[in-house]
Amino acid sequence: MPQAVKDIPVLNVEKIREDFPVLHQQVNGHPLVYLDNGASSQMPVQVAERLDHYHRYEHANVHRGIHTLSQKATDAYEAARPKVAAFINAAEEHEIIYTTGTTDSINLVANSFGLTHFSEGDEVILSEMEHHANIVPWQMVAEKTGAVIKVIPVTDSGELDLEAYKKLLTPRTKMVAVVHVSNALGTVNPVKEITDLAHEAGSVVLIDGAQAVPHQKVDVQEIGADFYAFSAHKMFGPTGFGILYGRKSLLDGMPPYRGGGDMIDKVTFEETTYNVPPFRFEAGTPPIAASIGLSEAIDYIGRVGMDQIEKYEAKLVEYAVEKLRKIDGLRFIGEAEERASVISFVFDHIHASDIGTILDKKGIAVRTGHHCAQPILRRFGVPATTRASFAFYNREDDVDRLVEGIEYAKSFFE
Ligand code: PMP
Repeated sequence: MPQAVKDIPVLNVEKIREDFPVLHQQVNGHPLVYLDNGASSQMPVQVAERLDHYHRYEHANVHRGIHTLSQKATDAYEAARPKVAAFINAAEEHEIIYTTGTTDSINLVANSFGLTHFSEGDEVILSEMEHHANIVPWQMVAEKTGAVIKVIPVTDSGELDLEAYKKLLTPRTKMVAVVHVSNALGTVNPVKEITDLAHEAGSVVLIDGAQAVPHQKVDVQEIGADFYAFSAHKMFGPTGFGILYGRKSLLDGMPPYRGGGDMIDKVTFEETTYNVPPFRFEAGTPPIAASIGLSEAIDYIGRVGMDQIEKYEAKLVEYAVEKLRKIDGLRFIGEAEERASVISFVFDHIHASDIGTILDKKGIAVRTGHHCAQPILRRFGVPATTRASFAFYNREDDVDRLVEGIEYAKSFFE
């Protein structure tokens, strides 16, 4: 079994970086600077070794096996549930549904909850800064049910216009689905206030937490959210796995989303009855290893300490904003008061993909494009941005390299 890392009392970035072998490589002849954490974060060796150990010595299918190996795999697989529940302070572990990621989690709610609760003229409120994963599933369900989509506008600084939001809420509002931290702007939304207002209007609330959980303490009970979705691969865990938190009282009344093994109670050709949540929503052989990997990632985050991560990243992002602000011609897209580890920017006469390509030649990985959030880029009148997104293993040195790289890229266009 892999050894647990020693407790890390304060965030020691050099020590942490030892756990991420991927960061210690040359890319195009330069030491890698990885600033694409918003797309997917890197995995510490503890998680990789745990996955390896599972595949080498522990693998068997879960739930249905009477034999010892299957029972051990089931125990390891199920162990993520209480761990995730504690991580986001869910009231109980059966409120944690395993999915394949944020996108899958939102599709589950849209189809299971939406298809049964929305009817002609009902309203779904989204925001202008949503990822496509929190737009398209609602559009698909709205098309089938006759529900109407309404959109909270975003201010010039990249914040939700809460006054406009209050006016959008009506007795017909059935769902408010809003992102916690914007992957395109870095804005941290006031999700508790949004949720309270929605509840006052009698609506249910889903929060897309994909970009929040790796960077800040999330407490679903304090927020009051009815559903909260996130992905393992953005929080130092494996791809192909994610979580939907759902309030038990709502889950109990929701029909299954997919049919197959594990989600049933009894099957006959005349009638099938269904398992209780969360199993009702988990059809087929699940990503067993990925669940075990997420457990390990949560342990890792716990040892580093979410408080330390928050403080460290806040300082790092502040440093980056100050440095980037000094670059002539650089314009931020999104300058919210409350922001997390994403910085998006443009130049009027240089396309983002040119910046990204030249940075890559210097070993600097950033993301360019619409970040699967086309409506918000349209709102700001740009087709694409360059996005640097940080994690707790990034350093000020990475920011300095980014700034140097941008200056170098600019020199081609002067
Ligand atoms: N929502 C947000 C805010 C995201 O940043 C992402 C990933 N970029 C998603 C949803 C979709 O996540 P996944 O692809 O892991 O399902």
